[in-house]
Amino acid sequence: MKRDKLIFELLDEEQQRQEEGLELIASENFVSRQVMEAAGSVATNKYAEGLPGKRYYGGCQIVDEIETIAIERAKQLFNAEWVNVQPHSGAQANAAVMLACLQPGDKILGFDLSHGGHLTHGSGVNFSGKLYVPFFYGVKKETGYVDYEQLEAVALKEKPKMIICGASAYSRDWDYARIRAVADKIGALVLADISHPAGLIARGLLTDPLPHCHIVTTTTHKTLRGPRGGLIMMGKDFENPWGLKTPKGETKMMSNLLDMAVFPGTQGGPLEHIIAAKAVAFGEALSEQYMKYITQVKKNGAAIAKAFLDRGYEIVSGGTDNHLVLIDLRNKNVTGKAAENALVKADITINKNMVPFDDKSPFITSGIRIGTAAVTTRGMKEKQMETIVELIDEVINDPENEHSLEKVRKKVHKLTEKFPLYKE
Ligand code: PLP
Repeated sequence: MKRDKLIFELLDEEQQRQEEGLELIASENFVSRQVMEAAGSVATNKYAEGLPGKRYYGGCQIVDEIETIAIERAKQLFNAEWVNVQPHSGAQANAAVMLACLQPGDKILGFDLSHGGHLTHGSGVNFSGKLYVPFFYGVKKETGYVDYEQLEAVALKEKPKMIICGASAYSRDWDYARIRAVADKIGALVLADISHPAGLIARGLLTDPLPHCHIVTTTTHKTLRGPRGGLIMMGKDFENPWGLKTPKGETKMMSNLLDMAVFPGTQGGPLEHIIAAKAVAFGEALSEQYMKYITQVKKNGAAIAKAFLDRGYEIVSGGTDNHLVLIDLRNKNVTGKAAENALVKADITINKNMVPFDDKSPFITSGIRIGTAAVTTRGMKEKQMETIVELIDEVINDPENEHSLEKVRKKVHKLTEKFPLYKE
């Protein structure tokens, strides 16, 4: 077959973009070569509907072994009793959990999207807000921390069937025990979506939700540094609390209901090449090398927060416990959109983000979100976090000055050259 020059040239350009630029999108990371190799492997050719040992297709003996290793490594990494490694993405993992636990029209309580929550936690433009009836809690205006009193008040008033915690743009740890105590008062299930801080949680750098929350979902590609994908876990399997029945009328354990909600509930054949890559990434995340990495991610989070504060920036909640900061740019007289556009011109990739109680639309926003997972993979440390903030500050202070943006861009390239990607 003739090589597809067009696509491979574009992929080369994308690699160059990743190598030259500063990647500060909090949900992104750079996987290892072996994770990429597994993701691009022959396992992409295999259909394997079902679970290891219980497939609807022949020839699954080898992918069965791969998927079993992925499951066992994920269990070890998160200290989980049960895991499903098949969700194609974080959104798919959440869809499967909701399909397993809820009926259309049931009430759910999630973290407000505009305060840092995720679309799949009840937003009106997402299945979760269309199929179920969403209610929200947010952060306290004075502190920027989750308003647990509000969460409890809404929960007791509305009695949702599920309370969802976890976020896309929240820099603080969660009080899962407190949320569980509220849920127990009304017989609700707690779903923790740890997509962002999963790597920090896995290695004990943040509170572990598994002892408190009934079900935990995550993506595998953020701080966990695996291929793009999702994961569902339980610290302890349990009988489904509402006597929900399968389509055949059976009452089952939650693990069975969740497995069935992934396949055939919301997905077809699992992506065994991606599951192989997940297995490799989970193996890496169990290593000492990863422990050093993820510890540095957190240190870099603290360093970048301090550097921004020192330069007069406002950080929502005043700092960070994890790998990200959410910056409110309203005292800098620039919108999130304008900052994002100017930074991209200087090869600094971040994303605009709503801040709590934002007065601008999601297309404009008052804030930007910045994460340390990807630059830490390149080997950057606290000193480079200060340099990064200096460069961002130069752009934000003069976002329309093309000459100055070009100067910053050159400095970015000089910095990234010293921390090459995929050098081995
Ligand atoms: N949940 C949270 C908290 C997220 O931040 C994200 C992605 O950013 C998702 C779910 C969705 O993950 P995916 O993009 O893999 O569907």
